Amino acid sequence: MEKRETTLIAQDTLQFEELVTAQHSATVSDTRLREDGFAMTDIEKIHIIAGHFREIMSTLGLDLTEDSLKGTPDRVARMYVKEIFSGLSPLNKPEISLSDNRYQYKQMLVEKNIALCSCCEHHFLPIMGKVHVAYISSGNVITSSNLQQIIQYYARRPQVQGRLTIQIADKLKSVLNTEDVAVVIDAVNLCASLRGFNDRNNTTFTTEYGGAFLSAERKREFLSYIA
Ligand SMILES: [Zn+2]
Repeated sequence: MEKRETTLIAQDTLQFEELVTAQHSATVSDTRLREDGFAMTDIEKIHIIAGHFREIMSTLGLDLTEDSLKGTPDRVARMYVKEIFSGLSPLNKPEISLSDNRYQYKQMLVEKNIALCSCCEHHFLPIMGKVHVAYISSGNVITSSNLQQIIQYYARRPQVQGRLTIQIADKLKSVLNTEDVAVVIDAVNLCASLRGFNDRNNTTFTTEYGGAFLSAERKREFLSYIA
């Protein structure tokens, strides 16, 4: 088994309990999908989801003949399938083109403060924050736009923050052909804020370190760049 180190730090009890569950399920880092998950077309999915969402709204007591509400089921369904959960479909996997590390740069490369917007799979509410990435090139470097595409692909699914961190790191390891990858996510889980247990500034910090980043010195160096 490859060596890895994952950390989850939550700052309140509610989130901690959720993260323990998350950490448990994060031992399988793939998003679990049904075998027939992609048998339907996007249009069929949108149609079915819109119908169910209409039921939810109606059950809550909302009057769906009201102008501002009547388009909501369809809008939500489209947003789920085409936008915020589009990373579930293997068809949307980004094409990655690497550039040659022609200067043979062998030190740490850091990309920090990459905007993150994902969705918590326990409450279907936003996880918003920043991703920081570091790696030591074994011959290739990745462009910022490709890095952002990888992050988006995994973020656009129902997620738990710990698993998202691991999925991004694993993808980078395979694309860059090195274990020397570190990923940190610093984010606000809005399910905690909105449900009134938390103040808005409460953030959750998740990390995934591989290869050279397992050494305390490398880790410290990386953390000092993103501090
Ligand atoms: Zn949640």
